[in-house]
Amino acid sequence: MKVNRTMKKNVFYLLCAIVGTSGFLAFITSAFTGNKTNAKNSNKLVIVSPDKLKKVDFKGAIAVEENDSFERYKIVLSDETENFTGELYNTGYKVVLEKASFNEVELKENTSYGFNEDVEIKTRSGNIEIVFPTTYEENFVYKHPVNKNEIYVLIAKKAEPYSYNVTLDPGHGGIDSGAHVGELYEKDVTLKIAEYMKMGLIYGGSKIVMTRTDDEVNPDERKRLREITDIANKSESNIFVSIHLNSFENGEPKGVTTYYYTKGHEEQAKDRERLAKVVQNNLISKDGWKDNSIKTENLQVLRDTKMPSILVEAGYISNPEDRGKLQQDKYLFNIAESINAGIFEYFTTK
Ligand SMILES: [Zn+2]
Repeated sequence: MKVNRTMKKNVFYLLCAIVGTSGFLAFITSAFTGNKTNAKNSNKLVIVSPDKLKKVDFKGAIAVEENDSFERYKIVLSDETENFTGELYNTGYKVVLEKASFNEVELKENTSYGFNEDVEIKTRSGNIEIVFPTTYEENFVYKHPVNKNEIYVLIAKKAEPYSYNVTLDPGHGGIDSGAHVGELYEKDVTLKIAEYMKMGLIYGGSKIVMTRTDDEVNPDERKRLREITDIANKSESNIFVSIHLNSFENGEPKGVTTYYYTKGHEEQAKDRERLAKVVQNNLISKDGWKDNSIKTENLQVLRDTKMPSILVEAGYISNPEDRGKLQQDKYLFNIAESINAGIFEYFTTK
């Protein structure tokens, strides 16, 4: 990897240093809202499965895979860490893991360990510092939402690593909590699933627009629905994905359904149905979700979005078996990964 420092723009130093939780979300949202760059100028997307890792090294503490858009490094620590930062640095993207250590590898203070050609690792005051060479600004560091001792780093392979725009709509929010059973609220679960989807989609070359990143939304439901479709339409997203949970008056019905709508969108009818189909197929392939098939329904967020759009009902909160899964992050992460797999399939096949 050859490094040309002159390609960097100082204005991005600050932006890219913003990582972590809320700042990171705000950055994603603000960076992507209103962006009209080449969403339709799609290069070929290559999804590399974890069994085709480019390199696994440093006694298994660091592994890397890649596609056309990003290199994705997985860093396995001996313990969970809350404090990590990433910033552009004069020779690349520097990730600092505060007071962290690797499982099997003992690092010596202020020693550079050449790892993957140019990746440099060192310790300083108990922190691990890793510099990934890159000339580009779109780099990210984040924690796996379930395996909390795993840190991931995305290193851009080109200045514009995105081929697609995707709007994610975590259903409900604010005073509209959606369905709930006890302390489990639909609005919280849908936001988690959307958050869990985000980094996987970015790795796959999608810019993400979120219709909400927290619990603050317009309390007027009619206005809120209009806002949601406006966000998707203004961002010129390639697809729109709304996440909801189902509910019924008794606990019997269970399983997942994906909705789509074609009336008034006849020229997109095939794509709309295909998007619903591939996402539904991926959802039912894992964790034993009952297949309630795809259905067409005149829902405002499907009718008023200009791009192919779906609404996923990811299980019944009213059913004890489904609810048992919806209460556990590992199942929510699997739902997120399944929807992502469907989205990739939609973008890369016809
Ligand atoms: Zn809902």
